[in-house]
Amino acid sequence: MQFFKKNHWKEKKEDTPESMFQYHVDSIRGVFRYNLKSFRVWIFLLIVILAWVPFLFLNEYIISQTRTLQVEQQVEELQYQGMALSRQMSRSVYLENVEMPGLNATLNAEINLLADIYDGRILVVNESFRIVKDTYSTDTDKYTISREVLNCFKKGEDSRYEYYKEGQYVEFTVPIYDQALKEIKGVLVFSTSTRNIETMVEEQKRKLQIMEVAVCILLSVIAFFASGILLRPFKKLENELNRANQGDMDPIQVPDCQETERIAAVYNESLLRLKHLDESRQEFVSNVSHELKTPITSIRILADSLISMGEAPVELYREFMEDISNEIDRESRIIDDLLEMVRLDRTKAELSVQRVNMNDLLESVLKRLKGTAEKRNIVVTLECMRPVVADVDELKFTRVITNLVENAIKYNRDSGSVTVSLNADQTYFYVKIVDTGVGIPDDEVGKVFERFYRVDKARSRETGGTGLGLAICKDIVQLHHGVIRVSSDFGVGTTFVVRIPLVYIP
Ligand code: ADP
Repeated sequence: MQFFKKNHWKEKKEDTPESMFQYHVDSIRGVFRYNLKSFRVWIFLLIVILAWVPFLFLNEYIISQTRTLQVEQQVEELQYQGMALSRQMSRSVYLENVEMPGLNATLNAEINLLADIYDGRILVVNESFRIVKDTYSTDTDKYTISREVLNCFKKGEDSRYEYYKEGQYVEFTVPIYDQALKEIKGVLVFSTSTRNIETMVEEQKRKLQIMEVAVCILLSVIAFFASGILLRPFKKLENELNRANQGDMDPIQVPDCQETERIAAVYNESLLRLKHLDESRQEFVSNVSHELKTPITSIRILADSLISMGEAPVELYREFMEDISNEIDRESRIIDDLLEMVRLDRTKAELSVQRVNMNDLLESVLKRLKGTAEKRNIVVTLECMRPVVADVDELKFTRVITNLVENAIKYNRDSGSVTVSLNADQTYFYVKIVDTGVGIPDDEVGKVFERFYRVDKARSRETGGTGLGLAICKDIVQLHHGVIRVSSDFGVGTTFVVRIPLVYIP
């Protein structure tokens, strides 16, 4: 596990004690922050905490249970002895003979012996709460009204005891009955040391603590390896991504767990899209080179032919020069279209949108193209279903309509017709351009919006087409959040429909 990373240690500035201290504090903080970002550190900590904390509680429980059991056992034993003593005292009317020590000598010896055996103290208290016997002899003839003694006089036999952990002793009482009157005549107060129990418990605690440290070390080792094993699929994923980063474009495979499998799937999808993008870019570059080269090749052939001809008539020179001029025009049109496309790509969001009267816009476009249509006796009609005012970039949208109507004229038959209609609903306006031209074969209809795609290359070249017009139209329409669709009947005619929202929402 990488706990330190070079740049997480801050750069030293001056060597004053304060700055050194701050430097170390910042460095440690940096290392902490860095490590807390690691998934592996979290898994490691989680395993250690989840396994260690219950173990700690268990140890505490074991210790407290052992102490209680030991104390209870000692108390039980002594209570048993105490009750036997109490019975003996009742039988030999001990309390009545207190003033005559000779009569109680045997019992007193027994009481002393019992106190010695259990390393404790026994008090005998009579009805007047006077201590008539104290094995320590310090409190004899004094009076006691402790809670335990009062309780014992009141309730009689009681198995409860008071455990004083700090003083390491336990205290309990045993009543002395008057056999004849069946009433409590006195109380035996036992206090016995639990020092030996505490020593034993401490010893056990020490052993458990050693075990705790051992278990903690073992757990840390297990957690270290377990976290490594759990994160192995992510390590593998990192390696695979590094491989891809070095230029290997093969899809990555990390089927070890669902999470990495999903990440790999998303990555592969993006990779595939990038691949397509790269391919289409390459194709575009090769298309551009080809398209730009064609007019230049024609110019070269024309110029070479003129040179090789030597003395040629002026008419022939003029004719060749006209062809050369046409090729130069074509080259410049292609460059213009390419520049337009690049501009559209680059300034995707930059539309100079304004409220435009669409009826007027269509009318002015058709007026401009009327001359071209008339040359081939094509009738161009405008049908406006309603007045439409919409948010569009006037210049760009004019380019779309011009291109579509130009195409409808270019790819039309002589004496054909072009009908442009304008309609709108609550949200959109629609421009429909219907022609009676050559049409587009079914399998090529979907490709006409591709850059440099032409159905009939010769015809397109003849009419000065660059193959970029529809691609530019589609870009502009999409910038307006609209759609452009084409349907065609090969040999009968083609219909283009443009749908644009009336209100432009950037
Ligand atoms: P071009 O400059 O060649 O006209 P476009 O991008 O405008 O390029 O059009 C692409 C191709 O789509 C054209 O070459 C042509 O084959 C076909 N096309 C476009 N409009 C029509 C139409 N109205 N009728 C038939 N074919 C069309």
